[in-house]
Amino acid sequence: MQLIEKSTKLDSVCYDIRGPVLEQAKRLEDEGQRILKLNIGNPAPFGFEAPEEILIDVIRNLPTAQGYSDSKGLYSARKAVMQHYQAMGLRSVTVDDIYLGNGVSEMIVMSVQGLLNNGDEMLVPAPDYPLWTAAVTLAGGKAVHYTCDEQAGWFPDIDDIKAKVSSRTKGIVVINPNNPTGAVYSRELLMQIVEVARQHNLVIFADEIYSKIIYDEVNHVPLATLSDDLLTLTFNGLSKAYRICGFRSGWMMVSGAKQAAKDFIAGLDILASMRLCANVPVQHAIQTALGGYQTIDDLVAPGGRLYEQRELAYQMLNDIPGVSCVKPQGAMYLFPKLDVKKFNIHDDQQFALDLLMKEKILIVQGTGFNWPQPDHFRVVFLPRQRDLKDAIDRLEHFLSSYRQA
Ligand code: PLP
Repeated sequence: MQLIEKSTKLDSVCYDIRGPVLEQAKRLEDEGQRILKLNIGNPAPFGFEAPEEILIDVIRNLPTAQGYSDSKGLYSARKAVMQHYQAMGLRSVTVDDIYLGNGVSEMIVMSVQGLLNNGDEMLVPAPDYPLWTAAVTLAGGKAVHYTCDEQAGWFPDIDDIKAKVSSRTKGIVVINPNNPTGAVYSRELLMQIVEVARQHNLVIFADEIYSKIIYDEVNHVPLATLSDDLLTLTFNGLSKAYRICGFRSGWMMVSGAKQAAKDFIAGLDILASMRLCANVPVQHAIQTALGGYQTIDDLVAPGGRLYEQRELAYQMLNDIPGVSCVKPQGAMYLFPKLDVKKFNIHDDQQFALDLLMKEKILIVQGTGFNWPQPDHFRVVFLPRQRDLKDAIDRLEHFLSSYRQA
């Protein structure tokens, strides 16, 4: 039999959030078992519904949204995104600088494809949202991971970033607020990153999809507002703050050194044209989302559902012997540390599988986020308090007798 094999381009590409542990969970579900899912940042199934005005706009525009749009997106939607950034002080942003995509995911893959030649390097955080590493690898590039330091509230280690820049480094990815750590970076830290990018002429990739999901008194500082001499690509969208992951709506905004990047931008235009356009009906939601009072503020303020779930999950996880975690200030995840000596953990995917089989709880192992040691895992705190409590109680029970073989 002549075997049909996947392209070698995919040899080192992986996306473990939807990897073997999830496959096993699906098999258990097919057998009729109930799995408590703490694995994916998808708000809708947990009862976080989209603002009604957004749904109404999509429905109202459905009949007239049957054709393709401009490959970069509807003018009115792009204009709304442009105004959103102009209001932050980015006055030179034009409609042409906005690309709408089927989620931020598509824009991530497109932007990286447009920049990297084989062997080019990109600085990517560890831990990361693994699509970044996968996209860089698929584009023929090399993801060089810089460390985010748990001891420093998961802030990126600037010295490590500096040490990892080479003559082949083309760009740096900054995920803020961060998935999976929940860290929200200070202006000072971001300025230091900008300075490194300036010294080495790096393109800045600012993934800010959680920019509106912020707890406590911290501020989110959009990276693009900190320089106008560096090329910055900012990524954001409606999946998280507006709870419509399934509609697939995101964008990329190009700012800063646009003149110098003319050729790269022409490449982005080619890539945008090749996929014709993003899903059109949901482009009609963008203006409504950004223009009105449609944010997630009530959910993230004290007393709000997400805020309270974060408090509960953080407290309960830290109370488990052998588990500790930094309090997230943004996004919807915790990235707890496991005492690997106590539990003899040397393979964190096996740990996630063992937990799934024994307690029917689905988490993602830390190495799935390109974290180099098997000593972390990610928990999504979207389930209601009752389910979160149940899940973390079961985790505690599981760990009370766990030692990996
Ligand atoms: N970036 C980060 C940091 C994410 O966590 C996610 C989704 O979880 C995405 C990008 C992709 O979002 P979407 O494609 O739904 O816009």
